[in-house]
Amino acid sequence: MQILDGKLVAKEILDTVAVEVRSLTVPPRLVVVLVGDNPASETYVRMKRKACEQVGIVWELIRLSAGDVTTESVIDLIHELNQRDDVHGILVQLPLPSHVYVPQVIKAIDPYKDVDGFQAYNLGKMFLSEEFMDLSPCTPKGVLKILDHYNIDVKGMDATVVGHSNVVGKPMSTMLLNRNATVTTCHIDTKDLKSHTIGADLLVVAVGKPGLVTADMVKDGAIVIDVGINKLADGKLVGDVDFENVSKKASYITPVPGGVGPMTVACLMENTLMAYKKNTVKK
Ligand code: NAD
Repeated sequence: MQILDGKLVAKEILDTVAVEVRSLTVPPRLVVVLVGDNPASETYVRMKRKACEQVGIVWELIRLSAGDVTTESVIDLIHELNQRDDVHGILVQLPLPSHVYVPQVIKAIDPYKDVDGFQAYNLGKMFLSEEFMDLSPCTPKGVLKILDHYNIDVKGMDATVVGHSNVVGKPMSTMLLNRNATVTTCHIDTKDLKSHTIGADLLVVAVGKPGLVTADMVKDGAIVIDVGINKLADGKLVGDVDFENVSKKASYITPVPGGVGPMTVACLMENTLMAYKKNTVKK
C-alpha cells in the first residue's frame, strides 16, 4: 500500500505558483468573504491565507456578521468586488447562514473571478472545454492532480464516487468521466452502498461521516481517496474511511489530514493565478 501524500504534491504546486507569481509586476489579489463565526470555516480560511502568503498572492478578508447579512447585501458586495480591477479572485466561504440563498450568491460572482469554480459558467465548461482550461472546482481538481503525480491513469477504471454535492461529488464524477473512467455516483438515497463500492478500482468518498467506508466495502488493491474531513469529540481529524483497516486492502490511499485537504488549497492558489491571467487578458 502506498500513501498518496497530498502535502508533498500540494507543496510542488505551491512552489510552481510562487515562481510565476513572483515574476508578475502586480501580484494577484484574492478576496475571501467570510460570514459568521463557524469554527471549521475559520480553520479553512486560515489555511487559505497561509497559502496566499506562501505564494505571494495578496490576501483580503471581508468579515460579515451573520445577523447583519441578507442574500441581497452579500450580492451587493460581490457586485462591488466584480467591479474592482485590483481583485482577481472572489471566494465566498461556505456554508453561509441558512437565511442567505447560496445559489443566488454564487450566481453573482464574475465567472472570471470565480476561483472556487462553482459558477454555472465554469461548471458548464467542465463539459465543454479542455480539462483545467477554466476555473474548475478545487477539491476534485486536487484529486485528479494527486492521481497524476502518482501516474495513476483512471481511463477504463470502475470508479465509484460516494457523495453528490455540487462542490465535490458531482464535479468529481464529471471529471472522472471526462477521463473515461466508468463512473458510479452514490448518495444518501443509494439503496445498497456496499454493492457499488466493493467492485470499484477507484473509490472517492466525500460525505462527512466518519467510518462510513469500512474494509469489507473495499476491493483488494483499490485506490481510495478520502475527501471527508470530520472533527471527532476529542479534536482528532478523520476522514470518511476507516483508514486503519482499509489501508490494509488498498493499493493507494489518501490520509486525513494530509491528503486531499492540502491539494484543495493548492488548487485554489492555481485557480487564483489563472483568474488573474483571465482578468488581465479580458481587459
Ligand atoms: P455535503 O454535505 O454537501 O454532501 C454530502 C454528500 O454525501 C451528499 O451527496 C449526500 O447525499 C451524501 N451522503 C450523506 N450520507 C450518505 C450515506 N450514508 N451514504 C452515501 N452518501 C451519503 O458535503 P460536501 O461539501 O460534499 O463535503 C463532503 C465531505 O468532504 C465533508 O466531510 C467535508 O468537510 C469534506 N470536504 C473536504 C474537502 C477537502 O479539501 N478535503 C473539501 C470539501 C469538502
